[in-house]
Amino acid sequence: MARAGRQRAAPSLADAGAVRVASLPGVGPRMAEKLAARGLLELQDLWLLLPRQYEDRTRLTPIRALQPGVSAQVEGTVAAVERGFRYRPSLRVAIVDDSRATLVLRFFHFRGAQAAQFVPGTRIRCYGSARPGQHGLEMVHPSYRLFAQEGEGDAGADALDEQLSPVYPAIEGIGPATVRRLVGLALDRLPAEGELELLPPDALDGLGMPSLRAALLAVHRPARDADVAALLEGRSPAQRRLAMEEMLAHHLSLRRQRIALQQHAAPALDGPAPLAERLRGALPFALTGAQARVFEQVRADLAQPRPMLRLVQGDVGSGKTVVAALAALVAIGRGRQAALMAPTELLAEQHLANLRAWLEPLGVRVAWLAGKVTGKARAAALAHIASGEAQLVVGTHALMQEGVVFRDLALAIVDEQHRFGVHQRLALRDKGASGSGVPHQLVMTATPIPRTLAMAAYADLDVSAIDELPPGRTPVQTVALAADRRPELVERIRAACAEGRQAYWVCTLIEESDELEAQAAQSTHEALSKALPGLRVGLVHGRMAAREKQATMRAFKDGQLQLLVATTVIEVGVDVPNASLMIIENAERLGLAQLHQLRGRVGRGSAASSCVLLYRAPLSALARQRLETMRSTSDGFEIAEKDLALRGPGELLGTRQTGLAAFRLADLARDADLLPQVHALGERLLAAAPAVADRIVARWVGGAARYAAA
Ligand code: ADP
Ligand code: MG
Repeated sequence: MARAGRQRAAPSLADAGAVRVASLPGVGPRMAEKLAARGLLELQDLWLLLPRQYEDRTRLTPIRALQPGVSAQVEGTVAAVERGFRYRPSLRVAIVDDSRATLVLRFFHFRGAQAAQFVPGTRIRCYGSARPGQHGLEMVHPSYRLFAQEGEGDAGADALDEQLSPVYPAIEGIGPATVRRLVGLALDRLPAEGELELLPPDALDGLGMPSLRAALLAVHRPARDADVAALLEGRSPAQRRLAMEEMLAHHLSLRRQRIALQQHAAPALDGPAPLAERLRGALPFALTGAQARVFEQVRADLAQPRPMLRLVQGDVGSGKTVVAALAALVAIGRGRQAALMAPTELLAEQHLANLRAWLEPLGVRVAWLAGKVTGKARAAALAHIASGEAQLVVGTHALMQEGVVFRDLALAIVDEQHRFGVHQRLALRDKGASGSGVPHQLVMTATPIPRTLAMAAYADLDVSAIDELPPGRTPVQTVALAADRRPELVERIRAACAEGRQAYWVCTLIEESDELEAQAAQSTHEALSKALPGLRVGLVHGRMAAREKQATMRAFKDGQLQLLVATTVIEVGVDVPNASLMIIENAERLGLAQLHQLRGRVGRGSAASSCVLLYRAPLSALARQRLETMRSTSDGFEIAEKDLALRGPGELLGTRQTGLAAFRLADLARDADLLPQVHALGERLLAAAPAVADRIVARWVGGAARYAAA
């Protein structure tokens, strides 16, 4: 079948990257569809499909020199073959080489014809990672090639590779060899350096970085003498170059989004704010310096005739809610509406209770809207929101649904924004009343991220930090205990509950399996209920219906339950000041950010609180450092910096958390030192060459950016 793409006139070189993948030889509609499912639409998508790994098939390793766990290529002669059927079919092929050592190849999935090929005396070359087996080292399912017997074969068949072989990410329905071939074909169509390059030459020279063309070739087709270790770690100059351009693309995409949103008008809420001042005067405490500073930043933003886009980072317990309430009062005092949205019903209810207590005495009318508000109550809430009778609306994402029409929304506050994400941020834009512009946006998060990363992740937001806790908090005592001391904890729980306190027991597993984690929590719940017969013990895990989960959380909050066994689903936000003991199982497996969030569930009341980190020995060096960090500090910002240094931002800054698109290659921790240059270059391009900026975004961010620009 003739493919339309091949009939067309060749596009100009500058557009070579935008040529459809379907125009490559051998790519029919079915394969094009599979590629499209992975976002591989154009040649440039294949250029940027970067290898995950490299296999070194340029040399042979003597079997005697194989190291367990290290991939290598060996060549030998089949010495013995054994087929077994005892538990499941298995095939074991022993090979020997000139080093007079034996290696066993093991196969569990194979066809009869395949097994029959392994005739003793046949020469075989295989590539894989060896591991210790019953009789010395073995390789499970290595990739291999058999050579024809003497005299039959073609002479060139056993030449070694000239270059490292890239290993590409798996693509469903397309074999690795085909993926490699397609990338090769796409690379053959790489335009000349000058046509491909989008970055200003002086910028590259300044950074001492290779051209894009040179970088792509170095990554896809590394020379035989390339520094493999640097490549595998992503630290080669070519990879740094690509990472820089990718971070630049993301930065530009977020900046453009911000610039586009700030083209809209927003109500300028300037002048005095008597309601906010009254609340400040009525509070039983003075604002901390950090709260006062951040509120001033917010006020200055609100006074502008363009929408505020501000993120407030503040550790758990730093007092973000008061700042949000003050901001809401600035809008309400000017006769406008404000809304506060939280990611779960329970959190939203918590805010509702606090805000009612603070605002209603000032005569402010607060409305409530969540998924469970239905029927007449919902109709009434909607009517109040539409008429302006409701001055502050508190709720869940139900606030963003279509039927919800505000009379005059001037400020939207979003708590724990990582649970929402960019989509919702855009949806909010449309909630403003026509004529009065788009609402100001205030986003609050309790997951502090290091300053360098905040710049990258939130280039569309201004960032403030409440980096000070209210006075008088007793820090949570943190200890790390080996798991065999688990029995002592039963006594600790009993003692805490005897004093009228409450406790959490958090079960964690490394596997990303809700089901296994739920099982672990269930059996812990049973065991603890048995060991503590006098106590009321509750259970929450991710496998429970949302309603059931919330009912249990509420019972714990109300003090009806004394001990709560939970999985990490309790991580975010719930405030039970009476809880003073937190036990975290398998703490060595959690990242610092998560441990910090979990620990933040206690120490919220007046009682001295403690956190026990149970670990399973032996600890890795990394785990030891994490637990030590937890013991030595409770400052979320310090912990975030440490986390970044220890582990990298992958989990810290997971895409689900930030709404930030995943990077193909850049690693914000590894490449953080490039961020200042990225920003400088980004601002320069936005000012001097916005069309180039657009092309950089399209090249790297593609679909996601098209969405954001919509
Ligand atoms: P978070 O930042 O975790 O959302 P909250 O806003 O829930 O923290 O505040 C935690 C607790 O601290 C609340 O009980 C709140 O009333 C109290 N609080 C807030 N600011 C201050 C302050 N400046 N002094 C004393 N207590 C405060
Ligand atoms: Mg909060």
